[in-house]
Amino acid sequence: MELSLHTFILKMKVTDHINQSDKTLISFEILPPLKGKGIQSLYTHLDPLMEFKPSFINVTYHRSEHTFKKTQNGTFEKVVIRKRPGTESICASIMNKYEVDTVPHLICGGFSINETEDALINLNYLGCDNVLVLRGDAAKNEAAFEPEPGGHKYAIDLLKQVVNLNDGIYLEEDLKNTSKTKFCIGVAGYPEKHFEAPNMDADLKNLKAKVDAGADYIITQMFFDNAKYFEFVKSCRAIGINVPIIPGLKPIYTKKQLTILPKTFNIDLPAALSEAVTACKSDLDVEKIGEAWLLEQSKELKKAGVPVLHYYTLGRPLLVANVVKQLL
Ligand code: FAD
Repeated sequence: MELSLHTFILKMKVTDHINQSDKTLISFEILPPLKGKGIQSLYTHLDPLMEFKPSFINVTYHRSEHTFKKTQNGTFEKVVIRKRPGTESICASIMNKYEVDTVPHLICGGFSINETEDALINLNYLGCDNVLVLRGDAAKNEAAFEPEPGGHKYAIDLLKQVVNLNDGIYLEEDLKNTSKTKFCIGVAGYPEKHFEAPNMDADLKNLKAKVDAGADYIITQMFFDNAKYFEFVKSCRAIGINVPIIPGLKPIYTKKQLTILPKTFNIDLPAALSEAVTACKSDLDVEKIGEAWLLEQSKELKKAGVPVLHYYTLGRPLLVANVVKQLL
């Protein structure tokens, strides 16, 4: 009997995808399923999106949380839970099932530098040459972000560790003849400023430091007003940030998002959008408004020649699919 071996023919870096295309590409971000849901729930989410042949799929990382569980004797014990585990293995599963490149997110929060190195080695073994490096947010029980003891404080520190591995420099200095990884490294950028930065100039300076340290491209926080993205790109170019800047886009589909999104992501919603959503009688009407808004944003960005339209698909993959269908 013939032995059939599956070989990956993709394995391209995000920047290779961009450099090899003269068109605007499509990519999607997904979250690992909640623990207990199983991988099929993820495939059900992704299936309707795969017909658009995304260039890559990002998979978010979720740090563990502390919570208190009531014991039999009525006292509470502190337990650590991770609600959405599995980023690295999900990336491998998606690459295997759909033959599409994946971009695992890697965060500083909750990781020691040794655990980070192990995660990067695992990704390298799995054949994943892309990574989006992030700091992560404060844990629920923290007032501000706290690194793990001996862990990284800022995304740039994590980025430098990845750059070192790409140069064959591991944490154990006496390792000889080491194999070099070849990660293409993305970082986050904020068209409306990261909430902790005192001003936009300081935030842009920190972003430039990440690019100067080796970041290959930037993916932005979601925005609902394209003017903010265009202004951000202009400011980046003015200070010598010359890597691709990929716009991150999310649909609105419930009224609740009018308060949740600005609060959670520190972004503004344009008055025209919030007024239209407020006037809706049902969430179904909100979805229609959200879809039309996302389509208009996407069309304008595509016309402006952005390298990739990157969609945050959580919650409404079909809405995103409808938008992309109308764009093609
Ligand atoms: P950093 O680049 O470290 O910046 C954080 C803050 O510190 C900024 O205000 C910056 O200006 C400032 N700063 C940077 N360097 C210095 C320095 N040397 N000295 C002083 N200040 C400095 N979170 C997750 O937990 N999991 C995910 O999967 C995830 N995916 C994301 C994907 C995208 C595209 C985006 C935009 C965000 C994502 N996040 C994710 C959220 C992200 O972790 C938070 O926004 C976090 O608060 C900041 O991460 P960062 O990588 O931008 O941090």
